[in-house]
Amino acid sequence: MSLPTEESAVTVLGLGPMGRALTAAFLNAGLRTTVWNRTAGRDHELVARGAVSARSAEEAVAASGLTVVCVVNYDAADTILRRKAVVDALKGRTVVNLTADTPDRARDTAAWAAEHGVRYLDGAIMTPTPTIGTPAAVFIHSGPKDLYLEHRSVLEALGGTHTHLGEEIGRAAAYDIALLDIFWTAIAGYAHALAVAQAEGITARELAPFAKGIGDILPPIFEEFAEDVDNGSFSGEGNPLTSAVSSMAHIVHTSEAHGIDAGVMRAAEGMARRAIGLGHGADGFSRVTELLGRR
Ligand code: NDP
Repeated sequence: MSLPTEESAVTVLGLGPMGRALTAAFLNAGLRTTVWNRTAGRDHELVARGAVSARSAEEAVAASGLTVVCVVNYDAADTILRRKAVVDALKGRTVVNLTADTPDRARDTAAWAAEHGVRYLDGAIMTPTPTIGTPAAVFIHSGPKDLYLEHRSVLEALGGTHTHLGEEIGRAAAYDIALLDIFWTAIAGYAHALAVAQAEGITARELAPFAKGIGDILPPIFEEFAEDVDNGSFSGEGNPLTSAVSSMAHIVHTSEAHGIDAGVMRAAEGMARRAIGLGHGADGFSRVTELLGRR
């Protein structure tokens, strides 16, 4: 039996919300898409739309030259990929691991893949499920460039932008970690802000339009920080740390007066106070980046 060609076939392992969205996009692009998930029954809708349901992970990976893995983390991915029957079926084929985890786990998986004759690319998805298959999706990839180019057309069936960040296999996961750092601390700040607002009798709906306004002022600040950090300038002209820390203290006091945990803001305030203590009070908050890794 001949293998379906690279351009026409793909396997997806993992049918959580993201795995299902990836599969739907591959199907919409007309690719022969084979699926497998640890828990059976998650593929009914996809099968109705033309996906091929494999009875095992080894059967799934044997169906295509390219397998995309998208499960909760690399512990789960390892459990699936490192069984002997799966390893045997994967030899000479390509795995693109779009599961999120740490750069070290990506490097470990690449070393395992090299040892077992599996061609390996790592990647991460930076946008939520509704974006998949649309121009709004963002994918980042790392690993051997020639392997990426070989599979790029199939990966691009997922829509959006695809960026190859370099040959170093941990690079996509490193970007993912840094970007999710922004996301989760911002979301934690928003959840906290809603609690403080509620305690002051302001509903979440009332605050939301103003919260979006705060979101809108961030992009130029991201650019300024990038300049500061890369140039070592840390200019605090518009908002020196001595002023920022006072605003943070007000948030801590108001939260705690309402019995609301202020741990996240206390951490930010602590970083600012440390920078001030080291003589950087006239600098902007970007100075914190330079100090964080220092003891
Ligand atoms: P989850 O992160 O909840 O992953 C669910 C998938 O993981 C299911 O297929 C589940 O199988 C599988 N799984 C969990 N544990 C195991 C295990 N021990 N062995 C085998 N399979 C296991 O949902 P998502 O689909 O949303 O996310 C998948 C990946 O995509 C994650 O790494 C996530 O960070 C990333 N991602 C998700 C986004 C989103 O918007 N959802 C956005 C960007 C990235 P089962 O059904 O059997 O439990």
